[in-house]
Amino acid sequence: MKKKTLLESEQHRNFLEEIAALPEGERVLSCLQCGTCSGTCPVAPLMDYAPRQIFAMIRAGMKKEVLTSVTPWMCSSCYECTVKCPAQIKITEIMYALKRESIKQGLVSPGTDVYRFYQHFTDIVSKHGRMNEMLLMMKYMALRHPVAMMSRVPVGLRMMMTGVMQVQPHRVKNAESFQKIVEKATALEARQ
Ligand code: SF4
Ligand code: SF4
Repeated sequence: MKKKTLLESEQHRNFLEEIAALPEGERVLSCLQCGTCSGTCPVAPLMDYAPRQIFAMIRAGMKKEVLTSVTPWMCSSCYECTVKCPAQIKITEIMYALKRESIKQGLVSPGTDVYRFYQHFTDIVSKHGRMNEMLLMMKYMALRHPVAMMSRVPVGLRMMMTGVMQVQPHRVKNAESFQKIVEKATALEARQ
């Protein structure tokens, strides 16, 4: 996990207020820094900052570091931290809010692989109305992780032979109507 000290002049003093204004963000102010969230989080070792550190950084005004962190993107939404937080902070929801904020402010770190995965996932579902694992693997892995992709070919073949993975993308009956719903939802989200 990274360690960094910010000069006072580098801090965004209103960042805590900005986060507190987000959905479910207000309770961030009640964080006790007990570390229960970091201790129970199953994916904390994969994060650049553990959840407790993220809350400390929000309070310290470390806006850029928080919004470029991979931590919210690694969150698997297991809700373990939310259930155990003694301050009843809805940590999982705040992780979602931080992801939305990173996208909105154009601060998603270019190396954030999970974001790319989400983008490909939503592109495919928006276009076809259904997920297609073959297409997802091609888009997500072919360019960036070609060696890893080759090592998974035998598994992919077995999945195709047993019908678990479809080669041709399946589309919902009226994909155009579905796309209109997605466009409407995207426009509504952009207005928030
Ligand atoms: S468990 Fe809750 S109170 Fe404790 S550090 Fe995490 S967010 Fe803060
Ligand atoms: S909800 Fe996210 S942050 Fe909380 S314990 Fe699960 S993976 Fe970790």
